[in-house]
Amino acid sequence: MTNTSPPRFTALFLAITCATGIAAGEESRWYKGNTHTHSLWSDGNDFPEMIADFYKREGYHFLVLSDHNILSRGEKWMAVGSVEKRRRTLGHPTMKKYLATFGAKWVELRGKGDAQQVRLKTLGEIRPRFEQAGKFLFIEGEEITNSFRGLPVHTNAMNLGELIKPEKGASLRATMRSCLVAAKEQEKRLGQLILAHLNHPNFGWGITAEDLAHVIEEQFFEVYNGHPSVRQLGDAKHPGIEKMWDLANTIRLAELGAEPLFGIASDDSHQYHGGDVKPGRGWVMVRAPSLSANNIVKAMRSGDFYCSSGVTLEGLERNQEKGTLSFKIRAVGKEKYTTRIIGTRRSRQSDPAGIGEVLATFTGTSVSYSLKDNELYFRAIITSDKAHPLPSFAKQQKQAWIQPLWALPISKPKTPRAGQTP
Ligand SMILES: [Zn+2]
Ligand SMILES: [Zn+2]
Repeated sequence: MTNTSPPRFTALFLAITCATGIAAGEESRWYKGNTHTHSLWSDGNDFPEMIADFYKREGYHFLVLSDHNILSRGEKWMAVGSVEKRRRTLGHPTMKKYLATFGAKWVELRGKGDAQQVRLKTLGEIRPRFEQAGKFLFIEGEEITNSFRGLPVHTNAMNLGELIKPEKGASLRATMRSCLVAAKEQEKRLGQLILAHLNHPNFGWGITAEDLAHVIEEQFFEVYNGHPSVRQLGDAKHPGIEKMWDLANTIRLAELGAEPLFGIASDDSHQYHGGDVKPGRGWVMVRAPSLSANNIVKAMRSGDFYCSSGVTLEGLERNQEKGTLSFKIRAVGKEKYTTRIIGTRRSRQSDPAGIGEVLATFTGTSVSYSLKDNELYFRAIITSDKAHPLPSFAKQQKQAWIQPLWALPISKPKTPRAGQTP
């Protein structure tokens, strides 16, 4: 059958909605998760269960293993010599640690000497060892690793039921869009909510703020990625990622009549035995009625989450209808916090210096702000006076990022520009 009749589609849609709906009186809580993680299934240097063991012990509630263009499914053997070579750093051999943690009964080996191989466990095999209701959940994912004329276009998709193969488009923006279209198609067909986010836009100087703005199907992008090669701060010719967020959101609201992007923080972890691409640098905190993949995706789509690289919030109230934000920061020791409210005023939207300017600054642990008449949007970023314990760039401090709130209704452009989003 090639077509789905409208009634069946409606039933499917209702099934998705009901499965993720928040029942009256149900109490939501915060779940910590990493949406971007690599393992030996692609170019990471440890076994998926060793990685899950780390994240679970560190207090994460959900983990997306997101290897390049592959799901952890099917039979995959790897030469033990190649596993050890991946480590590159000193320390205990990878296999020794794996055997010590999971035991000889769990670890599957074949062959001897230089020909010895180890089988990588599938996600289905490792789920029962880690998952616990309300405490820990894997969300199946993939880094759809695409490019256009050598420029990287990497999109993470989470809560997949099937692999998405990267499809090239006729332009960079069409290539960005192709991943989102594939995720949407799979979501409808399989009846499970799938969240896609554009990764590390400055990696390889692949994606500009204008690209992020104009691909309006894109709802999420990585405002912080813990990989040290992602050019978080930009350079003399390229804006840093934070500035790109403001540039893209200003274009969307001022010119395109489109909703702003939400930011995601992730590890993009590859190395688990020392080295530079560490786990535990950046994560999302998601408020959901229970720990299920559908609930996590649904909450993130509604903006009920924030990003952190070490600052935790309490009592976060973000009301898009009213344009109001208030929260408390959970103080740690003698740390001091500065919150900057960043946004763009309508009167300054054409002035580069007015895009993403500081609208207000707060010190202390309680912050409230509401959208002013002349503001297109605002967002909040909280910075601790303490250094990040595992920095991915120079002088990094612990931070948290809150999703933007914007003026409603969003005014549509007077003259739609043809061909604006190839
Ligand atoms: Zn990537
Ligand atoms: Zn990655």
